[in-house]
Amino acid sequence: MSLSFADLPIPAAQLENLQALGYVQMTDIQRAALPLAMAGMDLIAQAKTGSGKTAAFGIAMLDKIDPKTLAVQGLVICPTRELSTQVAEELRRLARFQPNVKIVVLCGGVPMRPQISTLEHGAHIVVGTPGRLKDHILKGHLQLDQVHTLVLDEADRMLEMGFKQEMVEIIGYTPNTRQTSLFSATFPDDIEYISRRFQKNPRQVTVEVQHDLETIDQQFYLCHHKDKLPSLARLLAYNDFEHGMIFCNTKALAQEVTDYLNDKGFSALALHGDMEQRERDQILIRFKHHSVHFLVATDVAARGLDIEALPVVINYEFPRNHETYVHRIGRTGRAGMEGIAMTLFTEKERYKLDNLCAVQDQVLQYESIDTVPQVRNPQRLPEYITLYISGGRKDKVRRGDVLGAIVQEAGIDASLVGKIDVVEHSTYVAVERDAARQVVSALNQGKIKGRKFKVGRVE
Ligand code: ADP
Ligand code: MG
Repeated sequence: MSLSFADLPIPAAQLENLQALGYVQMTDIQRAALPLAMAGMDLIAQAKTGSGKTAAFGIAMLDKIDPKTLAVQGLVICPTRELSTQVAEELRRLARFQPNVKIVVLCGGVPMRPQISTLEHGAHIVVGTPGRLKDHILKGHLQLDQVHTLVLDEADRMLEMGFKQEMVEIIGYTPNTRQTSLFSATFPDDIEYISRRFQKNPRQVTVEVQHDLETIDQQFYLCHHKDKLPSLARLLAYNDFEHGMIFCNTKALAQEVTDYLNDKGFSALALHGDMEQRERDQILIRFKHHSVHFLVATDVAARGLDIEALPVVINYEFPRNHETYVHRIGRTGRAGMEGIAMTLFTEKERYKLDNLCAVQDQVLQYESIDTVPQVRNPQRLPEYITLYISGGRKDKVRRGDVLGAIVQEAGIDASLVGKIDVVEHSTYVAVERDAARQVVSALNQGKIKGRKFKVGRVE
């Protein structure tokens, strides 16, 4: 997945332009869509605002524009004037590598006349809303018979706004040989219809639905490279967090961070791709049980993990792209809850913060780590300890059996028992730290559901 802009069959001048724009890495939708789009395939793509979809179709579209041919070759249909303007601005930035590409916006709410004279001077790409596009076509000011690339941007919104008929009509004026891409956040039946009617063998490209960043307090801390580990410890100690994920870009680093934190009296476990399934499962269960405070993970290891909303996510370093950033911090601030995302970065990585500001279209403030008061690590132990029982679903063990045995055999109040996970051949139960020893010895001597099982702490 290390595909970069340089791997695309685009001119060197465009590569330079992208660099000048600060596009260092592709976003996920670009990585997924651009190679297909450049190969001329029809796309159905799903990606939300801010994921960089304009460039995901724009770079491919511009690559096919011949400035010497004075005809509309690319058409982008958008639901609103604002979106049309934004798309056109981004296309103009992307087109800087090649002078003389004319990009025209055709939207309602403004007089037709100036648009007509602009069209008379020739346009290579037209971006506009369905109503006004249709007006220009019907009045004979806009010819679409040389369009080779058609994009329906935010297609679901256009349908919601009642533009279906206009869209169908406009597409009818373009050649059948065109490439048609459809961008949509959702896929109602009408989108299926448009796709079936106007696309040829479309490839589906889906980028995980973006999290709404608004409920997340994004904090950034500048530190020296050699001080990264102590800086992390400083953040954890000062904020006195008891539950959270820390992300690293590599396994080696995840392990190093974990070792450091444990050495400094924090409670942390590493989760990375090299682990056996059983070990991974146990680590996750301990994290979910709150029998460890911090999970230090790589993105690969964390992919698709089902973990409840976290109070904090810490990026020990910037992830490689914005999608990963959003994916990481989307583990906090869920379901209307406030969340905190902290990112540590060095002077050398400052441009990544700038990229983030550009992608999110907002100014993200940062502070020096020195502004965070240095306090002693509270050295608090996790509230729970996770116990392992050598019987699971296959042994007909159920949660109630385990809870019942703990209460009866160990004489422990049920309120001291936390989460219970029954898996195939074993069961994991969280019990409050002070009660753990008693539960282990009682269950080892006693029985669960009339049977003997081995019970111990998961370490
Ligand atoms: P969308 O259409 O999905 O809402 P845009 O195409 O408008 O997203 O892009 C959002 C922002 O991200 C824009 O400011 C754009 O310049 C910027 N952007 C797009 N691709 C990249 C990239 N690869 N690296 C950095 N910034 C990018
Ligand atoms: Mg857009």
